[in-house]
Amino acid sequence: MADTIFQKILSGDIPCHQVYRDDQVLAFLDISPLSEGHTLVIPVEPAETVDQLSDESAAAIGRVLPRIARAVMEATGCKHYNILQNNGAPAHQAVFHVHFHIIPKYDDGRGLGVGWEPIGTLDRDAGAALAARIAGAIAND
Ligand code: 5GP
Repeated sequence: MADTIFQKILSGDIPCHQVYRDDQVLAFLDISPLSEGHTLVIPVEPAETVDQLSDESAAAIGRVLPRIARAVMEATGCKHYNILQNNGAPAHQAVFHVHFHIIPKYDDGRGLGVGWEPIGTLDRDAGAALAARIAGAIAND
């Protein structure tokens, strides 16, 4: 995996506004916030995308994500927020080290804008077949 800007932040080679750190997780303010309090939560483990993350790192992030979200809410006064996690350049990932965005959504509209255009209504038979394929893949992982 190529050296990313987040690995340089993890190693202390470049600075960040840190809000949380433990052995497996670092959280810091995004340098180009979509709204006040926009925070990034990253694993210390150098995985590019979530599917490459170990169960241990995933659990470590999951354990602290609610606490960091509560802290962002308390510090900013935001009542709503999105958690965004991009995987792959076409999916808007720019830094290839797993990261979760916590993005406060304010009454004035600041925050994440979401485009949400369903491809249709899930077909019953096709949905059953697809769910079985995914369930089988999980069972074999
Ligand atoms: P992505 O599009 O990959 O999900 O988001 C990457 C995020 O990393 C962007 O929101 C961007 O502003 C943030 N970012 C990129 N470089 C730096 C940096 O050097 N420091 C900080 N704090 N955030 C960065």
